[in-house]
Amino acid sequence: MIQVKMKLMTAGTAVLLTACTPEPERADKAADVQTPSDHVLDTHSASTPDEAYITHLDLDLSVDMSGRTISGKASYDIVNLGRGRIVFDTRGLSILEVKDAHGKLLKHTLGDSTFLGRPLMVEIGPEVERLSIAYRTGAESDALQWLSPQQTGGKEHPFLFTQGQAILTRTWIPIQDSPGIRITYTAHVQAPSELMVVMSATNTTTRSANGEYNFRMEQRIPPYLIALAVGDIEYRNIGARTGVYAEPNLVDKAAKEFEDMERMVVAAEELYGPYRWERYDVIVLPPSFPFGGMENPMLTFATPTIIAGDGSLTALIAHELAHSWSGNLVTNATWDDFWLNEGFTVYFEKRICEKVYGKDYAEMLAVLGRQELTRTLHDLKEAGQDADTRLKLDLAGRNPDDGMTDVAYEKGYAFLTLLEAATGREKFDAFLRGYFETFAFKSMTTEKFMAYLKQELLDPADVTLDLDAWVYQTGLPANAPVVASRRFALVDTAIVRWSSGVPAKELATADWTAFEWMHFLRGLPAGITTQRMAELDKTFGFTASGNSEIAFTWFERCIANHYEHAYPALAEFLIHVGRRKFLTPLYTALASTENGMLVARTIYKQARPNYHSVSTRTIDEVLGWQKMTEPVTM
Ligand SMILES: [Zn+2]
Repeated sequence: MIQVKMKLMTAGTAVLLTACTPEPERADKAADVQTPSDHVLDTHSASTPDEAYITHLDLDLSVDMSGRTISGKASYDIVNLGRGRIVFDTRGLSILEVKDAHGKLLKHTLGDSTFLGRPLMVEIGPEVERLSIAYRTGAESDALQWLSPQQTGGKEHPFLFTQGQAILTRTWIPIQDSPGIRITYTAHVQAPSELMVVMSATNTTTRSANGEYNFRMEQRIPPYLIALAVGDIEYRNIGARTGVYAEPNLVDKAAKEFEDMERMVVAAEELYGPYRWERYDVIVLPPSFPFGGMENPMLTFATPTIIAGDGSLTALIAHELAHSWSGNLVTNATWDDFWLNEGFTVYFEKRICEKVYGKDYAEMLAVLGRQELTRTLHDLKEAGQDADTRLKLDLAGRNPDDGMTDVAYEKGYAFLTLLEAATGREKFDAFLRGYFETFAFKSMTTEKFMAYLKQELLDPADVTLDLDAWVYQTGLPANAPVVASRRFALVDTAIVRWSSGVPAKELATADWTAFEWMHFLRGLPAGITTQRMAELDKTFGFTASGNSEIAFTWFERCIANHYEHAYPALAEFLIHVGRRKFLTPLYTALASTENGMLVARTIYKQARPNYHSVSTRTIDEVLGWQKMTEPVTM
C-alpha cells in the first residue's frame, strides 16, 4: 500500500496469540513449491502451518448488497502434515459447516476472541487433502466497506470493496492469514445483475448479463492480496497490458490521468525483470478508500484523490506497480518485516519515475519523502514510540497496522539508496534483479535478506555501512544519503522572499508542479497572519484546489494558523475523502486545541459513516471517539 500515516497510540492490550513454532520434521510433497520450512513464526496469525497449510482456495460467494453480507463456501487444497488438525484465522464470521472433499462433516471449534479474531480449529484425519467451509460475513467483517448509493460518484448504486492488508482478509474469508502463506485461487461470485464484480485476479472487461463472474489467480499470492470490488463499474483500455476500471462518471478522466501506465510497466521491466502478472489494471474506488493505493495483484485498488486532472500525482501508480515485484513477488514473511515490502517499493517507484519523468521529478519525490520521514521520526519519539523507528519491527501483541509508518517506506528507501551509493547503480541493479528472480513467489525475512545482501553484494569485511544501525536501531543513521532537489532550491528562494514581505503575486511560480506547491506550503514559516493567509489564498486559490495533496497541505497550514475562512472547505474535504494519510494529520492538528477538537468532532460525526474501518480505528483514537460515545454504565 502507499503511505500509511503514523498513528500515535499505545500498544494494544489484547493477548498475544502464538502461532506455529517448531521447525517441521516432515519433508513436503514435491509438487508444492512452498515447503513447511518456508513458514516462519507469525505472531499475527493463529494458523499453524507446521500442522497443515493451504495451497489453493476456491471461493463460491454470493454478495447481498442490501443485506450487506457475503455468504458462500470456501474450499481449500491443503498440505496435511498428519498432526490431526488445521487452523484458520477468522474474525467476525459465522462458520456454518466444515466438510471434507467427500461431503463428510468435520469437527471444528472456534477459539477465544482477541484482536486477531477467533482461530478456527478443524480436526482432520491424515487422508484429508481438501476441505470446505460454509460461512457468512457479519457486522465485524472490517475488510468490507459497504457504500450506500449516496456515498458513490454515480449516486445510483451501492458499492462494496475489500481491504485485506494487514490482517483483515480473515474478516471476509476463513483463511490462514499470514503473509508467509501463499496460495492460488479461483472465485465464482454472484452479485446483483446491474453491478460488475472485479477481483485481484483475471478480470473481464465487460459486464455479465446475470451478475455472475468467474476469476482465477494462478500465481501464488499471500492472502492479504485477495481483493474484491462490486459496483457500477466500467473499463477503459490504456495500453497493451494496462487499463482502468472506475465508476462511469470517472472512468474517462481516470484513463486520461493514467495514460503513462504502459510506459511505467515497460520502464519497470527494463529495471528489474519481467512483469509476471499478465495484466496491470487499476480500479479507482469511491473516495472512502482508506489508502492511496493497494497493490492487489493484476488490479491495483486506488483512491480517486490521485486524479488531479494533470497527471501530477501518478507517482502512486508507479508505487503500486513496483509492488508487483517488491511485496507481491517477494513478500515480507511477517509484518515485522514490512520494510522489505515498502522500502524496496519506494526505491523502485522513484527509479520508475526517474525513467519516465526525469531526474528532477524523482529528486523532488525523494525530498518530500524525507520531509515526511523526519516528521514521523520526531512524532514517534515524542510519543515514546521510538522502537517503531527501527526497520525490523516488533509488532507482537498489537495490531500490525499501528506500527506500519513512514519509517518502513522512507527509512527503508534511504537505506537502499545508501547501498546503491556504496556499490554503484549498475551493480546494485543487478543485485536487485537477482533478488527478485531468486526469491520470486517466496516470502522473505529481514534476517534472510541481510544474509543475502552480505553474500551477494557487499564486502563482508566492510563495516563502514553500519548495517545493524540501519536495521535494528532507532532513528536515521548519520550516514543517510543527503537528498536535494534543484527545483526545490528555487521554491526555497520564493519562500524567503514571501516571508520578507514580497507580495505573493510577484513570486516566480508560473512553471511549478504539484510537488513544488507542496514544498512551498510545507516550508512556510509559523505564525502567519490571517491577512497574509488570505493573500496567499486569493493569489493561488489553495482552498479551492482540485489537487488533493495541495489542498491537504494548505489545510494543515490553515489549522496551524487558525485561518478559519478555509474551514468550510476543510470540512467538505474531510467528509468527502476517507484516505487516512490525509485524515490523521488534519484531525490530529485540529484536536490539539479545545476549539479545534469541537470542530473536529462535529465534522467527524458527519464524516465517520463515509470512512473504512482502517480509518475509523485510527481517528476514533485521535478524537477519543469511543470513550465519548460509550453509554455511561452505572
Ligand atoms: Zn506500498
